[in-house]
Amino acid sequence: MDFMPFFFDLKGRTCLFVGGGSIATRKARLIAKAGARLITVSPYMTDEMKALVEKSQGECFFREFEESDIDLASIIICATDDKDVNRKVSELAQAKDIPVNVVDAPDLCSIITPAIVDRSPIMIAISSGGEAPMQIRQIRSRLEVMFPSAYGTLAKIASKFRPEVKQKLKPGDQQLRFWEKVFNGPIAEKAYSGRLDEAEQAIRSLLTLAEQESITNKTLAGEVYLVGGGPGDPDLLTFKALRLMQQADVVLHDRLVSDGVLNLVRRDAERIYVGKRRADHAVPQQNINQLLVDLAKEGKRVLRLKGGDPFIFGRGGEEIELLAENNIPFQVVPGITAASGCAAYSGIPLTHRDHAQSVRFITGHTKSGDIDLPWESLMDPHQTLVFYMGLTNLEAICSELIEQGRDAGTPAALVEKGTTPDQRVLVGTLKNLPDIIKEKDVHAPTLLIIGGVVSLHDSLDWFSA
Ligand code: SAH
Repeated sequence: MDFMPFFFDLKGRTCLFVGGGSIATRKARLIAKAGARLITVSPYMTDEMKALVEKSQGECFFREFEESDIDLASIIICATDDKDVNRKVSELAQAKDIPVNVVDAPDLCSIITPAIVDRSPIMIAISSGGEAPMQIRQIRSRLEVMFPSAYGTLAKIASKFRPEVKQKLKPGDQQLRFWEKVFNGPIAEKAYSGRLDEAEQAIRSLLTLAEQESITNKTLAGEVYLVGGGPGDPDLLTFKALRLMQQADVVLHDRLVSDGVLNLVRRDAERIYVGKRRADHAVPQQNINQLLVDLAKEGKRVLRLKGGDPFIFGRGGEEIELLAENNIPFQVVPGITAASGCAAYSGIPLTHRDHAQSVRFITGHTKSGDIDLPWESLMDPHQTLVFYMGLTNLEAICSELIEQGRDAGTPAALVEKGTTPDQRVLVGTLKNLPDIIKEKDVHAPTLLIIGGVVSLHDSLDWFSA
């Protein structure tokens, strides 16, 4: 171990900055946040540095560093571009045992500043002693995702209850079970979404239950997360989706969810495939709805993972109606819908000032099998049409649009397996797209985009290039 981590209380202490450029300013921002008074010595200073110093009721000295400056502070940060000055500051400080950090020169430092993830009062500090900065960056960004920004808020609320819990619950098992319920499940989720009063109230009721020794496995734990998994590329998941995926006990998924996305679900979560292809509903919708209720009632954190966005042709509404009726807590997390994903990854903007002022999402699949749509409302040449589930009826859709009055030369594209490495974009017009498709071996899922915007694909296609 080259450096021992400590957490330093800087409130009321003075920190000397030698150097006032952008690197020094970056550090000063953090040091000021920790409550230190700043003194900066430098012929030049950024405006932000000046403001930080002023706010901390410190002092700016617009001149070169002088030896006697060392005595001004209880900690020194040096960030000048003059190597000799940096070395001198380090030597003087170390001779007097004043902690010193010279930016980007680990051998001149007696203290180093870690990368931090700030969830005050929780602080996560990571360091490699300067040896692996890229990996430190990666670790940090992963941690940023794992812990929601309101993670610290929950810690603050919980700490209010700590004395009472110590007094009312037996140490060991009883206290442990109580805190486990607070930090995993609906109470934590309330705090993360900013419903702090509700979270506090729930902790209070839980404490009463715990006192009566009536916390069971079923108390509070059961809830459902209806999560949009996006169109395929796992990088398109939201932070919240990923976090809930990592804490679920059981996941219900269907065919549209890509393997890459599914791989990010907590490894030991139970997986239930509930199918869903156009004509093959492995588990009938009603049973899925009921299964969500039953699993939550067993006390499980249930992840209902859907392709794209759960509220766009995803039956998300139907699935949560029964939950609401049964008073089961649930959350809905939006995902990137196929239209957005396919449009972005095929370089077809859905609206564009020269081509389309509006966009319409339409289902190309109907219960009865024949395609019965309000065609007259689809005639505006400046509206982009996006058909979900349109492959089977593609020929009918194109010919009906022409028959009802849209120009046969209107550009149209079929995006196959959008956002995945297998994405393919077949481009034509309303008139010839059906024939183009017949020649290719096309596989679901596919999305049909119609309108002038499709003409931009040629020049804006960045993904397959
Ligand atoms: N809730 C989903 C849509 C479900 S309907 C969403 O918001 O995206 C299923 C249809 O979505 C498919 O028939 C197909 O038309 C479209 N789709 C979903 N993922 C797709 C993808 N990666 N590429 C092309 N189309 C996709």
